[in-house]
Amino acid sequence: AYVIAEPCIGTKDNSCVEVCPVDCIHPTPDEPDYDKVEQLYIDPEECIDCDACVEACPVDACFAEDQLPDEWGRFVQINLEYFASK
Ligand code: SF4
Repeated sequence: AYVIAEPCIGTKDNSCVEVCPVDCIHPTPDEPDYDKVEQLYIDPEECIDCDACVEACPVDACFAEDQLPDEWGRFVQINLEYFASK
């Protein structure tokens, strides 16, 4: 699955939400949690590894899990935990 990392924090540009073909990036601006979270998250169960979000993101926050820079490795867990709490 793909993972959203630190550059999204405080950015939440939402370009990725618009291009994701399976709508697996949450929360979207119309979801109640949107104002409470610092960043967007990719649902690892639903992501189909299409790469569209990588192209769309203006701050390069989206990565294939195996290309995630080491210093942002914790974001794999952070993304997982967001959906585990749902
Ligand atoms: Fe959505 Fe594709 Fe990005 Fe996965 S890789 S989150 S399916 S846009």
